[in-house]
Amino acid sequence: MAKEILLTGDRPTGQLHLGHYVGSLKKRVELQDNPNYKLYVFIADMQALTDNARDPEKIRRNLIEVALDYLSVGIDPNKATIFIQSQIPELTELTTYYMNLVTLSRLHRIPTIKSEIIDRKFGESIPAGFLAYPVSQAADITAFNAKYVPGGEDQEPIIEVTREIVRAFNSIYGDILVEPKMILSENEVCRRLPGIDGNGKMSKSLGNAIYLADEPKVVQKKIMDMYTDPQHLRVEDPGHLEGNIPFIYLRAFCKPEHFAKYLPEYDSLEAMENHYQKGGLGDGKVKKFLNAILQEELEPIREKRHYYEAHIDEVYDILEKGSIEARKVAQETLKKVREVIGIEYFQDTTLRQMYHEKYKEVK
Ligand code: ATP
Ligand code: MG
Repeated sequence: MAKEILLTGDRPTGQLHLGHYVGSLKKRVELQDNPNYKLYVFIADMQALTDNARDPEKIRRNLIEVALDYLSVGIDPNKATIFIQSQIPELTELTTYYMNLVTLSRLHRIPTIKSEIIDRKFGESIPAGFLAYPVSQAADITAFNAKYVPGGEDQEPIIEVTREIVRAFNSIYGDILVEPKMILSENEVCRRLPGIDGNGKMSKSLGNAIYLADEPKVVQKKIMDMYTDPQHLRVEDPGHLEGNIPFIYLRAFCKPEHFAKYLPEYDSLEAMENHYQKGGLGDGKVKKFLNAILQEELEPIREKRHYYEAHIDEVYDILEKGSIEARKVAQETLKKVREVIGIEYFQDTTLRQMYHEKYKEVK
């Protein structure tokens, strides 16, 4: 049976953080081991340039940081193909054809784009490439015939545009592109992990993240500074869970065995939450518990990262090999696309044939 294709990427605008980890990276590692799937993972450097064109050095430096993050969480280059978007020029050509199948007003209406335009303070000066990045994302996905895209909630409206492009393309030119579906985390909190300040989602561009590469002290400090419940002044005061960042993170990371190990007075998160709501459980204790859990989760990732940092040539080799392999697949798709659009002029003999026939008749 042919394997189902999974594809997903990240923008090299910074190191990867806990939001990426729970929203997408964990799922990738799990699925790469499933023999029914083939995983492609790519670093979307061209997409990152759409809002960072004036700071290419940031993208260049973070590209390798993201690759280190991939390898350190366990994405395995022997199972998955890891590649760099800009090394596959076929993607750009596909983007050009897809650009004709979507309107500017549709792109403006994408909720994720709308909020990113505000976050990035573009005002009226939106780079055309930025507005069109969902189209380039459609090219990334379809070039590899990806059926599934594991990602966070913010990707859903963008994947919807890919589906619209695919449907338009297939109905006009012939049924050759695969319509993708998103794979969202089963845990709702993980689909859009909030930032440590409680304002919006954790994001590289907003400076509100715990990075996978953060040293233990930095992680601890970020946890201790986390936004909780401003009305919960004394330990005995009743606390609120809504918007309470340490509790939201506990919902994302805490497993039953963590209680026995670090906080045996509770047997579940619900019991802990109830106590907090009633009063009598201090924020410091909650944060300490979260710190123990996150340090345990991040330690092996950090260690693996140190290995790859010390063997950086291996990382560049993995990226180069992956990009060569991925390019071959994209070339095949592009060839089919050009054929069905009818622009493979020198291989397509049907029109010439018509002239040959006509000329024969005249003779
Ligand atoms: P940027 O600020 O540059 O857009 P980002 O932090 O949003 O960076 P992306 O590279 O845009 O990260 O996202 C890569 C993948 O990680 C996407 O699938 C996205 O949905 C997912 N993701 C990003 N942030 C979160 C989050 N806070 N919670 C869950 N998933 C997330
Ligand atoms: Mg993003």
